[in-house]
Amino acid sequence: METLSLPGLDALGWSLRAGTVAISIHHTVTMAASEDREEERDHVHVIDNYHQSLGWGGIGYHVLVFPSGRLYQSHANNRIPRAGVAHRNGEIVHLAFVGDFTATQPTAAAIAGAREAIALLRQEYGDIPLMAHREVATPDYPTACPGDNYRAWIGQLEEGLMPTREDPFYAGGPTLGDIHDWAARGDWLTKVLSSQLDDSQIPLMLIRQLQTEVANLWGDVEFIKQRLAAIKEALG
Ligand SMILES: [Zn+2]
Repeated sequence: METLSLPGLDALGWSLRAGTVAISIHHTVTMAASEDREEERDHVHVIDNYHQSLGWGGIGYHVLVFPSGRLYQSHANNRIPRAGVAHRNGEIVHLAFVGDFTATQPTAAAIAGAREAIALLRQEYGDIPLMAHREVATPDYPTACPGDNYRAWIGQLEEGLMPTREDPFYAGGPTLGDIHDWAARGDWLTKVLSSQLDDSQIPLMLIRQLQTEVANLWGDVEFIKQRLAAIKEALG
């Protein structure tokens, strides 16, 4: 990770972010001219200049990952707020994939780099969920970011959570893979709501994934939160 020293919303007088509830995933809809390190660094500055011109006080992302997998941090202090999600920059840290993923997916190197960045951010802020920008956007600032195709790849950022059948928490219940399969078929929510997913069968490791899936189903979020609370209580 290369650390730069770019202004953020602090340049506009905002104070440091006091709490951090999620890592928001973005795409920049820009492309560096090559995978050369100098070119990548220059590209970060291009985005920084552009976002300053929009009045955002500096680049709107804390960490950027390029197709090469290389990571660039806007500033050593990730608590400097950045204008990534309107109205929510006081509580969210921003990770951006450089590129346009409207119709394509990030490279395997970029996914690996992003996973490294996520691990570092979670060391800093605890076990916070990943949220696509569009999932945390407020209704007055809707966006397609990080691209209409994001569900096809965003799950790869969490694959390390995949429980195995040897997992001590696995008690014959569904695997994370099962849940992803159901989600892909659209009946994941139905199964949860109809209690075909028995609370006692859900491994502890799945709770964070469930929280992420819940966030994806924003319209039902209040109902599912209650359900998660019940699951957590059942697991003691
Ligand atoms: Zn975004």
